[in-house]
Amino acid sequence: MKWGQALLDLLFPVCCPGCGAMTDAEHPWCEACVRQFWNPRMIQSAHSRDLEGCYTCCQYTAGIRDCIIQLKYYGKRNLKRCFPMLLARFPWWERLASYPIAVPVPLSRRRRESRGYNQCDLIFQDFMKNLGKTYEAELLVRLRDTKVQSTLDREERRKNIRDAFHINRGRRIEGQCILLLDDVYTTGSTMEEAARELKRAGAAAVMGLTLASGAP
Ligand SMILES: [Zn+2]
Repeated sequence: MKWGQALLDLLFPVCCPGCGAMTDAEHPWCEACVRQFWNPRMIQSAHSRDLEGCYTCCQYTAGIRDCIIQLKYYGKRNLKRCFPMLLARFPWWERLASYPIAVPVPLSRRRRESRGYNQCDLIFQDFMKNLGKTYEAELLVRLRDTKVQSTLDREERRKNIRDAFHINRGRRIEGQCILLLDDVYTTGSTMEEAARELKRAGAAAVMGLTLASGAP
């Protein structure tokens, strides 16, 4: 470890976000907590006309679930340090090499302004740039607020999200292969709708990646 980092760790000790155990900045999660939620996989149900599939890193449970909730709803931006370690362990980056453009699922402008950030950017942006992907935070636009999805069933979610996304004016994506990013995959209706808009605008293929999912 570099001296600078060692000194920082001494001054500002890093604790596991799951259990509070002392860890270090490069590996903020302890292994016991990671074991509770680490479950990289291709989500079985994630396949539609417009979405090739969707990978996820974690089961949406235990420490990672709390961590995402704190990041999204309690303004804990500094939890951004918890994600690179997990993304670095994702075992199939080479399968995603043919998707050079990374696009986060956007928030509506109103929600973006009240939250102050899109959690997807905090989770993925730096990591994707380090991987050499082009991170296009502004490519998709969410036109309207949708009702809170978690209270709706699958069919209601689909209606709720219909036509919610547009490509930012003037952006061209014909023939591009796009990696679509979100924090959590639930029923997939959000991701499928965003993929539908990307394909409508000419994208050649859209593959999903989320940090966590409770879907089988
Ligand atoms: Zn822990």
